Amino acid sequence: MGWLQGSNYRTLQYQRLRKHRRYCQSLIARTLSAMYGQVMLKTIRKPKSKQDFALVLGVESSCDETAASVLRRAQDGQVEVLSSIVASQDEIHTPYGGVVPELAARAHMQKIESVMVRAVEQAGINWTQLHAVAATSGPGLIGGVITGLMAAKGLSVSLDIPLIAVNHLEGHAVSPRLTDDCPFPYLLLLVSGGHTQLLGVKGVGDFTRLGSTRDDAAGETFDKTAKIMGLGFPGGPAVEKMAANGDPKAVKLPRPFMGKPHADFSFSGLKTATLRAYENLINAKLGQASERDKANLAASFQQAVCDILCDRTKTAMDMFKRTDKGPYRFVVAGGVAANARIRTALDKLCTDNNFTLFAPPLKYCGDNGAMIALAGAERLALGITSDLDVCARPRWPLDQDSADNNPASGFGKKGPKS
Ligand code: ADP
Ligand code: MG
Repeated sequence: MGWLQGSNYRTLQYQRLRKHRRYCQSLIARTLSAMYGQVMLKTIRKPKSKQDFALVLGVESSCDETAASVLRRAQDGQVEVLSSIVASQDEIHTPYGGVVPELAARAHMQKIESVMVRAVEQAGINWTQLHAVAATSGPGLIGGVITGLMAAKGLSVSLDIPLIAVNHLEGHAVSPRLTDDCPFPYLLLLVSGGHTQLLGVKGVGDFTRLGSTRDDAAGETFDKTAKIMGLGFPGGPAVEKMAANGDPKAVKLPRPFMGKPHADFSFSGLKTATLRAYENLINAKLGQASERDKANLAASFQQAVCDILCDRTKTAMDMFKRTDKGPYRFVVAGGVAANARIRTALDKLCTDNNFTLFAPPLKYCGDNGAMIALAGAERLALGITSDLDVCARPRWPLDQDSADNNPASGFGKKGPKS
């Protein structure tokens, strides 16, 4: 290659890159054309250059929900969810008491097409009216993330519309903005099956991590507790139901990090203590815990999580106030935000600390396509789109900076934990 120097060499490389790219694009388009049959478009219509609104399809497949939604976002920020389809895999994973990644990936493959078609049909639009497609491209179970992201890439190529790769956590972070006028900046408690974090959110994609879990996530702890007690899957709603008739003071359980000056969480000690408490119960009752005992343990566990979340949030509120002038807004998002006792306790905490609470309606607490569509639409409005070679990422911290520089925010084998 010595005879090819300078700009000639670069031109050749560039041509090769373009050729390779065209090949990839046509490959994806052909594959998806085959997949979607008549659904795929024969004619491609480009969006008008000056639209006063954007229609965005959001695709979510990072864990055990295959979801898609069409959202209309006006230029002034007004949002309307035209459709939101969620195909849950609860039945598939129930026998195992937790999500089995391989089964989840297969189920996403089976459902992704029909879920997207239903989302577009229910929105009352046709495919050519879409202005962009947004898809979760991490963090999450890689098989599922690849499925949704590849489907979105195919649509992007076929419809000639921009692709927006969305961080799943950013979707949760903006979820209250689907229904409420909740402007930036705000303090966010993101509390789901895979994550428990406190972040300052200053704008689109602008996150500062104030604290995060050093071991398990709160939702995961709910799921494990339900599994230990044989309450079923997903664990959160099952524990909440069981706790309704129990005494939250009946069983003494630990509350790790309560009162500490940092805003990190730890749930593994609580998980083990709950397991021990249940074993003691079984032993004392000769192998059979009564419904009353189970209700008391569930209520005590739920109260411990609630106390931990409130205490850590209070510390983060103080941190947030040091750098922000107010008015102060607080957002709780993610699957665990569906818990009524936790919502009520956080509401009181907000009142006591001069914050306004924003929490998404229950249907947008767990994983859904609408929050991904919104995160995508907000990026699109700023002109932020993704290249077709964007990769699926099993790990993807919202705030890379803090994850790199603060060991307390957690490191996994493959880099900072998200
Ligand atoms: P992820 O994005 O990590 O998959 P989701 O946002 O879908 O998580 O939330 C799922 C988690 O939320 C599960 O761990 C589930 O047990 C928990 N969860 C759902 N509803 C409740 C509830 N009512 N109380 C407590 N936890 C809940
Ligand atoms: Mg989630």
